[in-house]
Amino acid sequence: MQTITTVTELRSALGRVRDKHVGFVPTMGYLHDGHMALVKASRARCDVTVLSIFVNPTQFGPTEDLSTYPRNFLRDEQLCRDAGVTILFAPDAHEVYPAQFETFVEPGELARSLCGAFRPEHFRGVATVVCKLFNMVLPDIAFFGQKDFQQCAVVRRMAIDLNLPIEIVTVPTVREPDRLAMSSRNRYLNKEERLRALAISRGLFAAEAEFRVGERECEKLMAVARRHLDEVDRLQYLELVDADTLQPACSPLSQPAALCAAAYVGSTRLIDNVILSAGSEHGLRPDQTRMTLSRCDDTGR
Ligand code: AMP
Repeated sequence: MQTITTVTELRSALGRVRDKHVGFVPTMGYLHDGHMALVKASRARCDVTVLSIFVNPTQFGPTEDLSTYPRNFLRDEQLCRDAGVTILFAPDAHEVYPAQFETFVEPGELARSLCGAFRPEHFRGVATVVCKLFNMVLPDIAFFGQKDFQQCAVVRRMAIDLNLPIEIVTVPTVREPDRLAMSSRNRYLNKEERLRALAISRGLFAAEAEFRVGERECEKLMAVARRHLDEVDRLQYLELVDADTLQPACSPLSQPAALCAAAYVGSTRLIDNVILSAGSEHGLRPDQTRMTLSRCDDTGR
């Protein structure tokens, strides 16, 4: 494995494997098995896997955890080596954002609901850095986790809208044995908060169980989830949205939907989601993004 910190070096290393299929896994580091599932998916389909570690300042709000975001580069490097990553790309902020940087990628409607409603600049920062990293790595396929469901939707839309010749693959969320979604931010949780955080996945899976036995009314499904989610310190949102448009889903559910939650446990903000789909297991096709907004009538969600 090569560890590379500059775009020039990266281009020259990738120049040597130009004929190979390149997979790309963008991360912010402090790696866990969720990240490693993306590496595994990349290795299954590509000859070369590039994993980036970059804690991107433009996707953090002024009061968010940019300076305290967990970091352990040497451990991450060893995990990448063990997982069969070909190139670990770890640029610093100056390498990614040159002086006088002023050009951003501005996502649209998909970035305004769910997390976007509470983190107004977040997806602009995500889209910008992912677009820049795509231009540096020039991958054939890029891998993203379903845990950040809205991020997947925004990135997929961006790839289509900006004619980026990159396949965007969504990999299912990897969970701890007790079903807490793996996240670098879980390390902020103390023992007792960690226990309370389980209410999030408990709520989402309770709703999913109701969906599986035939419940299709959005309000009822959300009420099932809310009963558990009320146990967290502060529920920021719980929303059942159309899986393609991220607009509120309509009852009775007939299209794949995503039940998404963001909640604070102590001062840690956690997100999670489940896909409710009568069809394929995750309700997602890698190439799928319909932009028609589904409309609800006055009576239903
Ligand atoms: P992050 O380092 O948190 O920015 O995440 C980097 C990539 O890993 C993103 O595509 C995330 O969606 C993905 N990811 C994070 N946690 C998980 C998880 N538990 N399961 C699957 N993918 C994940």
